[in-house]
Amino acid sequence: MYKKLIFEISKPGRKGYTLPENDVPKKQVDDLLPEKYLRQSPPQLPEVSENEVVRHYVNISIHNHHIDKGFYPLGSCTMKYNPKVNEVTAAMPGFRNTHPHTPEQFSQGSLELMYDLAGLLTEISGMESTSLQPAAGAQGELTGLLMIRAYHDKQGKPRKKIIVPDSSHGTNPASVTIAGYQSVNVKSNENGTVDLDDLAKVIDEDVAGLMLTNPNTLGIFEDQIIKIQKMMHDAGALMYMDGANLNALLGIVRPGDMGFDCVHFNLHKTFSTPHGGGGPGSGPVAVSERLEPFLPKPRVIKENGQYRFNYDYPDSIGKVHSFYGNFGMLVRAYTYIRMHGPAELRAISENAIINANYLLSKLRDHFELPYDSPVMHEFVVSASRQKAKGARAVDIAKRLLDYGFHAPTIYFPLIVKEALMIEPTETETKETLDEFADALIKINEEIDTDKDTVLTSPHKTPVKRLDDAKAAKEINVCYNG
Ligand SMILES: *Cc1c(COP(=O)(O)O)cnc(C)c1O
Repeated sequence: MYKKLIFEISKPGRKGYTLPENDVPKKQVDDLLPEKYLRQSPPQLPEVSENEVVRHYVNISIHNHHIDKGFYPLGSCTMKYNPKVNEVTAAMPGFRNTHPHTPEQFSQGSLELMYDLAGLLTEISGMESTSLQPAAGAQGELTGLLMIRAYHDKQGKPRKKIIVPDSSHGTNPASVTIAGYQSVNVKSNENGTVDLDDLAKVIDEDVAGLMLTNPNTLGIFEDQIIKIQKMMHDAGALMYMDGANLNALLGIVRPGDMGFDCVHFNLHKTFSTPHGGGGPGSGPVAVSERLEPFLPKPRVIKENGQYRFNYDYPDSIGKVHSFYGNFGMLVRAYTYIRMHGPAELRAISENAIINANYLLSKLRDHFELPYDSPVMHEFVVSASRQKAKGARAVDIAKRLLDYGFHAPTIYFPLIVKEALMIEPTETETKETLDEFADALIKINEEIDTDKDTVLTSPHKTPVKRLDDAKAAKEINVCYNG
């Protein structure tokens, strides 16, 4: 049948497109597709052998940097190793071959996994309930804000503003705007945490909530969090936690216990599912009792030992994703959580914190530290001393590529000049951290002895230094090597 299909498809002309029996009736396809859109000649497909195809992709993969190839300390992104066992479970036929329209009685295993994963995330976050639908952290943010809006509307007191600290991730004010709220900035104090005096000034009865990352984007834990949540709740406003940094908190402290009403998870960060070019992402949201009625629907429920989708939530904000979210990612995250268990989940965060502090201890004499507080899973140093000698953060980042490392995040958070934001994650060895620190120390020496090499780097990558503005406008991702 396969052969027959290929043969027929490759025949020229619309008459060649014979569909197999029991599929969409041919007549219907002809009605749907106007003549002018139908191909009149066979497509020009390249004639290549499997060998050539494999070499093509292997070559592309080694020209790129990725977590399977080397250290990837991209601050804020938690580029931890993606265990291959996740791929094995996600590819199990019972999961992989299940169509979203499969009747519930034939997809009990998939439903059970979703039910259990939502329960695990609820437990990990100390919340009341979880939706697995959002497809990214940023979409989780929007989902959370829409629920906060629905909450205030339901109380009959619509509000207009959301407070966002100046150290927040760019997606926070963007989500606030997309949700139709006005974003109000609050300053950080000299410790790099929220300035409570400034916060008190901006709270009023138009404030619907506060969006906070904890630990924040400087890698510093908001130690006034209990006071902050009290200030907000006393004013009738809700607490949203950007949970992208949850890799610092697993099994140690829970967003629900800190007084948050909503938190999103980045399964593609904390729970080891692929991201970047390897996505798609997944950004479930967990909520407190206050927001529980407004969660997206459907939710998976268990009744008489059977799992089913329940749509009966009159106050729900509705659907935020087609079907039920990025299911393959849910399988991977579930695998990761079950494989580790509670004690090891805590060890993940403890090791992420130890690795970040170890690396910081090796670098603290070589860079300026804008906020010299103990850090959680990531830290930010400033290259302002290096800039005074003529090499900026971007030059250091580019030179690191020559040493075989991915660059850290640079120029973020915005409150630190010449920022280098470094997140090693728990999956790296001491040897790798040592090599990375040595490379940065060596680059510092090069700035003194051989600055041009640094300023014109990278020298060893397939693509040399690009004009960033031009490269962003005239994207060329072809591989011709
Ligand atoms: C990664 C990140 C986000 C956005 O998550 P996406 O999945 O990329 O949309 C939001 N906030 C913080 C602090 C992050 O690190």
